[in-house]
Amino acid sequence: MLNIIFSFVALVFLLGLVAYVLVLLANNSRILAISQNSADLEAELLKAKIKSIMDRREIETKQLKLSWNGFRKFQVISKVKETDDITSFYLAPHDGKELPGFLPGQFLTFQVHLPDQPQPVIRCYSLSDSPYHPDRYRVSIKRVLAPRDNLTAPPGLISNYFHDSLNENDIVDVKAPSGHFSLSMMKQTPVVFLAGGVGITPVLSMLNAITEMGSQREVWFFLGVRNRAEHIMKEHLEMVARENENVSLNVFYSSPAETDVLNDDYQVQGRVTVENLKAILPSNNFDFYICAPPPMVKDLRKDLNGWGVPKKNIHFEAFGPATVKGCKVETSKESVAKINIQFQKSGKTLVWDSKAASLLDFAEANQIPIDSGCRAGNCGTCLTAIKNGAVELVGEPGSEPEAGSCLACISIPKDDLTLDA
Ligand SMILES: Cc1cc2nc3c(=O)[nH]c(=O)nc-3n(C[C@H](O)[C@H](O)[C@H](O)COP(=O)(O)OP(=O)(O)OC[C@H]3O[C@@H](n4cnc5c(N)ncnc54)[C@H](O)[C@@H]3O)c2cc1C
Repeated sequence: MLNIIFSFVALVFLLGLVAYVLVLLANNSRILAISQNSADLEAELLKAKIKSIMDRREIETKQLKLSWNGFRKFQVISKVKETDDITSFYLAPHDGKELPGFLPGQFLTFQVHLPDQPQPVIRCYSLSDSPYHPDRYRVSIKRVLAPRDNLTAPPGLISNYFHDSLNENDIVDVKAPSGHFSLSMMKQTPVVFLAGGVGITPVLSMLNAITEMGSQREVWFFLGVRNRAEHIMKEHLEMVARENENVSLNVFYSSPAETDVLNDDYQVQGRVTVENLKAILPSNNFDFYICAPPPMVKDLRKDLNGWGVPKKNIHFEAFGPATVKGCKVETSKESVAKINIQFQKSGKTLVWDSKAASLLDFAEANQIPIDSGCRAGNCGTCLTAIKNGAVELVGEPGSEPEAGSCLACISIPKDDLTLDA
């Protein structure tokens, strides 16, 4: 009897052991399968990453091949009124050849010959659509009037020329896309776009680039305008927000008209300020892209900093007035005696005029040609190599100039200086 009981217990134990081993084996093979799956996933991710880098390289190589030096002729293929004072211009290359892509946020530089101007006039306008239209570019331009505190001043030269005199089929001279204020399409980090009025143009290009490529990147889009009359691209923005769950659209009207409807035309009454952002954004953990008039850019940068957003996450561009020359900044050099500026290419050496607002102004006053665009340190057109000496900045550059060069529009000499101009 004892034998039978013992054999039965041994059998049960053996069966238990077999079952345990089977469960262990099953678990192990599941673990193996899971780790195999995650290894496969990692390999897939790596492959996708490499492909995206290769694609990007291909695009860059193509962009370089298709890009051009100097000015190229473009034809206005369409002129579309967006609001009372903003009009979009669609431009196709007159030679009919393919266009290089660009980074969303970059701008075009135009050269306009006006009969009453002694020299061609240069202005920059941001590309306002995504780079995925290889046959045309688009810029959207606001008509600039005389400043409110100086109504007798002449109205904006080039914006009014575009609005009043440049029509479909007309030709304009355009430099290839450039600029450092741009969105990397390689990243998937969540972004906040902050636009004031016509400052929407570069961030609209970024928004369109994200949504047109079907990216799920998280986007918070803030636009500040006065009211419905200034609400640029209203239907387009609403359509993008409706069709893309990853896009949150927040339009601010600072002085809505009686007929403007809250929660329909706009979401918030007031200005785009960091205080207002705090009530809407889930955190400050974003890359911020700002484009607006200079005072708005300044406030947003300062307050984002105060909110703890690291400098490296705050990207900005300001559309400063091009014609109005910078005010002379008092510097310690006022009292210092003679500073010699040698313009090497022009073969002239001149004594620095401490009343000049910048090296660009000084050069122009002495008929020394230096290309210029924004005159505010943003567009990089006046970048000039320094052969000897150093400069002092009298304005804040949109991005640091290359080593060994200066942005002549916001620089003055520290001491004797030799420039490649
Ligand atoms: C990188 C970059 C991108 C840009 N993108 C865009 C864009 O997408 N869309 C857009 O609309 N703009 C954009 N701008 C701004 C644009 O380049 C021009 O600065 C803007 O159109 C004004 O140029 P304007 O020739 O019409 O005016 P300007 O002739 O330069 O005049 C500017 C202001 O100065 C006043 N003024 C002229 N002369 C005097 C005087 N003697 N005394 C006092 N005041 C005077 C004018 O009345 C006007 O208010 C961008 C600027 C930069 C730097």
